[in-house]
Amino acid sequence: KTTSVEEIKTIANEENVRFLRLMFTDILGRIKNVEVPISQLDKVLSNKMMFDGSSIEGFVRIEESDMYLYPDLSTWMIFPWESERGKVARLICDIYTPDGKPFAGDPRGNLKRVLKEMKAMGFTDFNIGPEPEFFLFKMDDTGRPTKQLNDSGGYFDFAPMDLGENCRRDIVLELENLGFEVEASHHECAPGQHEIDFKYADAIEACDNIQTFELVVKTIARKHGLHATFMPKPIYGIAGSGMHINMSLFNAEGNAFYDETDSMGLSETAYYFLGGLLEHARGYTAICNPIVNSYKRLVPGYEAPVYVAWSGKNRSPLVRVPSARGASTRLELRSVDPTANPYLAMAALLQAGLDGVKNRITPPPAVDRNIYVMSEDERSEAQITDLPSTLHNAIKAMRKDDVIKDALGTHIYTNFVEAKRMEWAAFRQQVSEWELEQYLEMY
Ligand code: ADP
Ligand code: GLU
Ligand code: MG
Ligand code: MG
Repeated sequence: KTTSVEEIKTIANEENVRFLRLMFTDILGRIKNVEVPISQLDKVLSNKMMFDGSSIEGFVRIEESDMYLYPDLSTWMIFPWESERGKVARLICDIYTPDGKPFAGDPRGNLKRVLKEMKAMGFTDFNIGPEPEFFLFKMDDTGRPTKQLNDSGGYFDFAPMDLGENCRRDIVLELENLGFEVEASHHECAPGQHEIDFKYADAIEACDNIQTFELVVKTIARKHGLHATFMPKPIYGIAGSGMHINMSLFNAEGNAFYDETDSMGLSETAYYFLGGLLEHARGYTAICNPIVNSYKRLVPGYEAPVYVAWSGKNRSPLVRVPSARGASTRLELRSVDPTANPYLAMAALLQAGLDGVKNRITPPPAVDRNIYVMSEDERSEAQITDLPSTLHNAIKAMRKDDVIKDALGTHIYTNFVEAKRMEWAAFRQQVSEWELEQYLEMY
């Protein structure tokens, strides 16, 4: 897939590309981009594009604001939908300091750092298959999202044709145009809720794909007069949106999680990686579930996890081992939601799993019964703990976990905690509708 500088120049010329979007992701997981006319292509491809890092959330102080964008040539892609005003191409970039070093506050660069540690342990790839879910809401005449789902079956304005289905098909077609291998797409349990799964890839490419995916979903939905949201729990009382993460480690021989001689078909590496994932689950929750609203989803009754446990069958625990074996042997972490910064999440999950491998952390026994009907005593006997219940508790748990701190590096860790503290402080001062309904008359 690697594209050379010469190849890119030729394609840009042949396809008459007019603009170039240079993309990266900030600490909070938002895609940022600088658009330059194609006349700047040479400058871009020789890593000379500079930007002001101090205006990006959590990046740097004013005094050290100059940053350089180094495009990753393998991410070259022409967006098909913007061709009316001349074609637009994109390149995802790594961020470097003026003295030519990877910038410690760049989430993508940070993931590369953790992947190097993985390679030093003899693995070749950390493969990630995400399952992002999202809701489609109607927009009003001025193009702003409303609070109305587009296909809420019970409502009197239910359209005879499922707007959502056509929109989802268009999203899938566009993803395929962009080279995604879409494995499945379906309506999810909640009204207005959808899921599109695409084929797993090595961590960096998978994270790039997740960012591109969100951009495509939002863009195509808008063309259908719909607003797509990845907010984890937009509506009380129905399922929320998760982004299950399927993961496996590969080495030169193939899938390092597979061992046909084991009773469950899992290797020692898989068990220890699982041990690490469970051991650090409370520590990485703030990264995988980073907003106040994330914790409205992590409640019983909607197929989202609440407890730290694993199973080969059940869908209620945090980690499930899907039944496929051989090259598809994998662990599915079910807590992650689509607001997570994928680069930070994969760095944290990889570091957690590798800590299990390094320190031979044996996971507790599998829990194959419904955890929600177990008593507190039964849970503690089965070594089942709770996931943090709020962003506040999740940050406290992260601060106690040195492995997760290491996975982020000091720069990202400090800025992340600071931003999340402010978010929690703003939220906890609010007086909600629920409180008024409960207390205004009662007291
Ligand atoms: P579910 O059973 O939870 O609905 P899906 O079948 O929808 O799961 O999703 C499976 C995901 O796992 C896909 O993204 C797929 O590419 C991915 N996957 C398959 N094999 C591996 C592997 N070895 N490592 C990581 N991900 C994998
Ligand atoms: N929507 C559920 C969640 O919040 C997941 C449903 C599923 O198993 O796909 O995680
Ligand atoms: Mg799903
Ligand atoms: Mg799943």
